[in-house]
Amino acid sequence: MEKGMIQVYCGNGKGKTTAAIGLVIRAVGRGKKVIFAQFLKGTKTGELEVLKQLSNVTVIRNPKELGFLSRMNDLEKREVTEFHNQTLEKIQKILLEEMIDLLVLDELTYPYIWNLIDKEKVEALILQKPEKLEIVITGREPDSFFLEHADYITDMQCIRHPYQKGIKAREGIEY
Ligand code: ATP
Ligand code: MG
Repeated sequence: MEKGMIQVYCGNGKGKTTAAIGLVIRAVGRGKKVIFAQFLKGTKTGELEVLKQLSNVTVIRNPKELGFLSRMNDLEKREVTEFHNQTLEKIQKILLEEMIDLLVLDELTYPYIWNLIDKEKVEALILQKPEKLEIVITGREPDSFFLEHADYITDMQCIRHPYQKGIKAREGIEY
């Protein structure tokens, strides 16, 4: 792969994570090696069942389900921060050991703005990325740090979403 770039999928509309997964599928179809790291989310989603079966994809996410930030006490915040930092360490370890073509940092924008991750480690990962590594970051409101370093910025704009009518997230569509 030629020089890797940095991509940000942001905005309040649907499609950020699924776009990142679409890119994973495209890359794997070309024999590329991928790390799919997911922050915050610990609940089961349909895509993970498929990604875990692909030998060229390493999935890294928190080992347990987490509640909403607004309901987390200090101990829980420390725990989730620890999980996030462990995810970063796992990523760095793999990057040292093998040639990875694509790294997805799904929902990374939230722990970064909410201080639930070592921000310096996140910045080091982006600023000192291997030359050929492509990085995709998703999440609603990316900090200016991500935007400053991104080569692609795609804003998923919500024009309409069923949750506005009170329709709950649907299995196989939203998760
Ligand atoms: P997707 O994973 O479908 O690509 P996304 O990554 O852009 O979407 P997220 O903000 O990560 O969106 O939300 C995960 C999923 O939850 C999305 O499919 C989105 O449509 C859905 N969702 C977001 N907010 C709500 C809400 N308030 N009520 C119900 N579903 C929601
Ligand atoms: Mg998402």
